[in-house]
Amino acid sequence: MTIVSYKDLYGWTMDEIVKVIGLTNNCTFCGVFRRQALDRGAMLIKADKILTGHNADDIAETVYMNILRGDFFRLGKCVAIETGKDGPLPRAKPFKYTYEKEIVMYAHFKKLDYFSTECIYSPNAYRGYVRELIKDLEATRPSTIIDIIHSAESVDIDTSAVKMPKLQECTRCGFMSSNTICKACVLLEGLNTGKTRQAMGRKETTNTADEETKETASIEQQATEIETGKITDTESQTGLQKPKITGPLEIAHEEEEKNTSN
Ligand code: SF4
Ligand SMILES: [Zn+2]
Repeated sequence: MTIVSYKDLYGWTMDEIVKVIGLTNNCTFCGVFRRQALDRGAMLIKADKILTGHNADDIAETVYMNILRGDFFRLGKCVAIETGKDGPLPRAKPFKYTYEKEIVMYAHFKKLDYFSTECIYSPNAYRGYVRELIKDLEATRPSTIIDIIHSAESVDIDTSAVKMPKLQECTRCGFMSSNTICKACVLLEGLNTGKTRQAMGRKETTNTADEETKETASIEQQATEIETGKITDTESQTGLQKPKITGPLEIAHEEEEKNTSN
């Protein structure tokens, strides 16, 4: 088994990141880094496909989250059993129709090692509220989870009039991105240059209500500064090395899922 850690890939552990940003909004960092880490790990072992363990409960939650956020672009793709089919590293969710309960029971009766815990880094993650809501719905309608998935599958979203982001290679790390510099590099830049710490410090002292909007604005500002050259572009700043990959990097699966990585 090959294990790749955030520390190896990015120079930061999640514990260290949480020390900087606290217990809010760290899904932004974890989600973006994890998504890219899966690609990097897969390429390291020369895999030609990534299979993730998302189950039916996870997918129903993601559908609901995308509806509540009004994210129709992700709504259209989040129930696909396979994405990125035309790229070199497709992703698939073989447990898409398997309930979490069934997986737990299978592991229990087969006496398999089973790791079950809640994430300690994000006690207030949005997903937690949606999970509660779905559990409540399930109490009155047992087929809720599969109904949500089937409903999303039958939604036909017309994206012809929408300008979709064009996938390209990040000019820093070489991984796919919808911008010149990918979000992982932007976030890492903020951590390595102390800008994230400054932004978090400002947030604590000003104590404004809309924390998520402010953090996003801060990240976007960092991206603009990096792109316009106000922050110089060196690999040593991000800690990311250009990957040694042959072939095109047009991986057509969705970008990080804002902590959804469902
Ligand atoms: S909830 Fe998920 S995305 Fe957020 S910090 Fe925990 S593992 Fe990472
Ligand atoms: Zn990058």
